[in-house]
Amino acid sequence: MTTVRTEIAEIAGAVPDPELRVVTIGELGIVRGAEKAEDGRVVVTITPTYSGCPAMDAIRDDIRAALAAAGHTDVEVRTVLSPAWSTDMITESGWAALERTGIAAPGASGTPACPRCAHRGQPTPVLQISRYASTPCQSLWSCRSCLEPFNAIKKL
Ligand SMILES: [Zn+2]
Repeated sequence: MTTVRTEIAEIAGAVPDPELRVVTIGELGIVRGAEKAEDGRVVVTITPTYSGCPAMDAIRDDIRAALAAAGHTDVEVRTVLSPAWSTDMITESGWAALERTGIAAPGASGTPACPRCAHRGQPTPVLQISRYASTPCQSLWSCRSCLEPFNAIKKL
């Protein structure tokens, strides 16, 4: 049973996030559990990142498709809201992947560091341009030093 459970968790966790393609839903901490019951039914439990996140339907479909490709056809994707998801659940490799594409972490105080300047060891004042960026879970910022606009994940 353990082997199957791990395999299912790995397959489900390896699904790329539909909006942030560079990270998997495992790295984002969306997958809470994945088990195969005695009768062969697979149950994957997920937690939405932000309430009303438009990507959740796509995530459910992608999990089913990924598991079907591995031969698991009886799949139920359950949504659990508690405990609520927070940005603390994003793994280190998840943050690293986001940062490589210029998406900043929210920072401890909720103010991100410019992904360009921070690499040169120069934390610079940043200015929020918009509470919303290309996805509802990101906000748009501008760096006052290099003037580069960048997206940051909102702290939750
Ligand atoms: Zn900068």
